[in-house]
Amino acid sequence: MSYDEKTMAGARIEYRERVRRFEDRERLRTADLLARSPRLREVERDLTGLSLRLARAALSGSADEVGRIRTRAEELHAKAGEILEEMGEEKDALRPRTYCPVCEGTGETGRGPCACLLKVYQEMLLLRYARYLGEQSFENFDFELYSDIVSPYYHAEPRGIAEFVFDQCAEYARRFRPDGGGGLFLHGGFGVGKSFLAASVAREVIRNGYFAHYISAVSFFALAEKERFGRLAEEEAADWEDAFSADLLILDDLGAEPASAQSAPLLYRLLGERAALRRGTVLVSTLTKEEISSRYSPAVESRISGTLTDLLLIGEDLRKAGDNT
Ligand SMILES: [Zn+2]
Repeated sequence: MSYDEKTMAGARIEYRERVRRFEDRERLRTADLLARSPRLREVERDLTGLSLRLARAALSGSADEVGRIRTRAEELHAKAGEILEEMGEEKDALRPRTYCPVCEGTGETGRGPCACLLKVYQEMLLLRYARYLGEQSFENFDFELYSDIVSPYYHAEPRGIAEFVFDQCAEYARRFRPDGGGGLFLHGGFGVGKSFLAASVAREVIRNGYFAHYISAVSFFALAEKERFGRLAEEEAADWEDAFSADLLILDDLGAEPASAQSAPLLYRLLGERAALRRGTVLVSTLTKEEISSRYSPAVESRISGTLTDLLLIGEDLRKAGDNT
């Protein structure tokens, strides 16, 4: 599983800030309790003294002494509990609390980032792609926008097809694993909901703790040109690298970019590298496979057919009707 390093660096800063605010609130809360009761202050002083003795006893390896101090500390906590209850507070209100009991507010466990840090990372990843993700999610998908009248061309109802494609996308997102490989080739006419579903997949994958990277084909191929001449800015270099290495890539609107002789070999390489690393890919396009074959190359088409599940959406241009664009 890979992390978007830039987002993770930002998440660590935000995380430390949240831990700091939590600890400030804790100090204020404790100070407030102590200010209200001289008896509680006395117990608190004894507890502080005990914790120093406990540290010394632990260092000298005296198990008996450690046991005695712990028993005494529990008695003091019980006494503090009684006082606190008389004050109308929770009885363990004076016990030290940490931001996260698993990592004690460090954000790290021995096996990598703690779940509490990953939660902040996910929030920030959703923010990074907020403009693209918008309100698009499986929960907001509207089947009513698809006609239930059989299309004479496809001999099927657009709504029935949308339900099938929706289920496939939701299932792919739900089962997504960073080394699961495969992916989806979501295609169909303009404004039939392809990008909406792709964004929904990305959102779900991010929510499940993985790194989904979104880029439009126009941006991707523009970055490729700059990369060829070594002119990528730092931010752009990350966007470029992420296309190859992110757990999941959403390459949106393939075919909208200006035609170029470089496109076919580059697309072939991108799909090949991702498949070799068993990274998932969602390709969104208005092109059919035949058009992909002639616009790029038969090799690109066969790589798509060989690695991605083909999903065709049909219907009116929904951008006129509603929001599933
Ligand atoms: Zn934690």
